Amino acid sequence: MAETENTTAPERSRNFLEEIIEADLASGKMDSIMTRFPPEPNGYLHLGHAKSICLNFGLAQKYGGKTNLRYDDTNPTKEDTEYVDAIKEDIKWLGFQWDKELYASDYFDQLYAWAEELIKRGLAYVDDQSQEEISRGRGTVETPGTESPWRNRSAEENMRIFREMRDGKYPDGAKVLRAKIDMSHPNMFFRDPILYRIKHASHHRTGDKWCIYPMYDFTHGQCDSIEHITHSICTLEFDVHRPLYDWFIETLGIFPSHQYEFARLNLTYTLMSKRKLLELVQNGYVSGWDDPRMPTLCGVRRRGYTAAALRMFCDRIGVSKHEQMMDLQLLEWCVRQDLNEHSNRYMVVSDDPIRLTITNWEDGRVEWFDCPLNPADPEGASRRVPFTGDLLIDRADFMEDPPHKYFRLKPDGEVRLKYTCIVKCNEVVKDETGKVVELKCTYDPGSMPGAGEYRKVKGTIHWVSASYAKKLELRLYDKLFLKENMNDIPEGMDYKDFLNPESLRVVDGWAEPALLEDKSGIAVQFERTGYFVKDPDSTPEAPVFNKTTALKDSFKID
Ligand code: ATP
Ligand code: MG
Repeated sequence: MAETENTTAPERSRNFLEEIIEADLASGKMDSIMTRFPPEPNGYLHLGHAKSICLNFGLAQKYGGKTNLRYDDTNPTKEDTEYVDAIKEDIKWLGFQWDKELYASDYFDQLYAWAEELIKRGLAYVDDQSQEEISRGRGTVETPGTESPWRNRSAEENMRIFREMRDGKYPDGAKVLRAKIDMSHPNMFFRDPILYRIKHASHHRTGDKWCIYPMYDFTHGQCDSIEHITHSICTLEFDVHRPLYDWFIETLGIFPSHQYEFARLNLTYTLMSKRKLLELVQNGYVSGWDDPRMPTLCGVRRRGYTAAALRMFCDRIGVSKHEQMMDLQLLEWCVRQDLNEHSNRYMVVSDDPIRLTITNWEDGRVEWFDCPLNPADPEGASRRVPFTGDLLIDRADFMEDPPHKYFRLKPDGEVRLKYTCIVKCNEVVKDETGKVVELKCTYDPGSMPGAGEYRKVKGTIHWVSASYAKKLELRLYDKLFLKENMNDIPEGMDYKDFLNPESLRVVDGWAEPALLEDKSGIAVQFERTGYFVKDPDSTPEAPVFNKTTALKDSFKID
């Protein structure tokens, strides 16, 4: 049962990054650690980024270090301040605070100076070849590359042309600056990597100051070095870039930052690529970056997932050097763990409820019951729930012809209405189509709270007073994709072919009135149904609630 599960994470052994850091601190290699989180401001953060954030900030916290937020903004055409602001909001929401907010573009002058230094030392040259010629000249893993005809320009000539590039003399693509390393190096990244390209584009921070922009490999390591990042943690695909990262730092003789790689987070039924998520938004497959079905942090927040649940999830999945696929159900389990402990309870019936009329209830009589907001805290705050003779119950809580061991309401059967009395179903009223529309019941006055006579019945169901119920719009969400491994799209198919046509169903709900006064700011539990969170689309007249997750499922955690 969700209610009784243990919420404390089991003691886990140290991960490989913790081992490295502890060894570095113990050996005196450094006194304290410095990490950074380096998002490119070209989209909203997703659950994969949450893992990277929890790691970078979490390690610094654990070892008394600091973490910078550094925007990796070297690609002016795709980046935007909208994303810069959203990223900050998401990191704060996750519960972390950066030391400094920095931008790779803050270092454009320094990076440019280093490029000139390499030119002077004969370690960089301007290449006039086209992008295509450069790619072809690189060779393959089996065959060495061929040297560019421009490779042996003098340092003076390279300096003159590079400055002309900077001053805007050439169009996009006319020339690039390349490092002069080794065209037959076994690591393709060493075959004269491109350091700068020409791009006549306005940058979200530097405006039109630059028309040449540094490449990732010529940027990331040096930025780490400038900030004295001790442990530069990134995903496995950067493994092949590490030798070059080290080469620039060693060649320039600057602070020795080190890069370490971990396996990125993959989740079942989930796609995590900013490019594809942008496509979903732009083509209207979802309502926006914060659609509650999106794996973005603003999306899961709107869905009702809590920051504590995400941190719990990131801690539980741990850090590995091998790619793996995590179960979406583990994330949902973490959400339930956190909400079970912290969320307020309310009764809501939904979709197509049945009227339950208590025939022996005095006309106009209203009883208000004080019910706990959270049963885990019976001494805590309560809410007032009105009880009347005209009630609504969930259609699923009545069966005319039930199987054996059905303990909810049935003809001539008895059930307890949660927090109140026992009722007996005496008559089933149907409309002309044969559909059940009303149950005429009698209540047992002796079973009312405080009446003294305690009598047990097998089933308890929830209800709302029809006279007092508040109407809601309920948005019931399901997985956005139907395929378990969204990283493995078969040839000739598109990831959009796996969109779930039933990922959103909208139904009506009727809630006890106290729900609309809830001030908790997090998702609430609709008793016996699931967790729901108020959506920003709500107005006082038309409240909207998103389904966060069901109360429980069959997922087992070991
Ligand atoms: P995407 O591939 O979704 O566009 P990205 O890697 O291009 O993501 P960045 O903004 O460059 O996005 O990422 C910032 C940091 O987050 C990087 O250090 C990156 O390695 C890390 N990161 C991105 N995706 C994941 C993931 N799925 N799991 C863990 N870390 C991730
Ligand atoms: Mg990236």
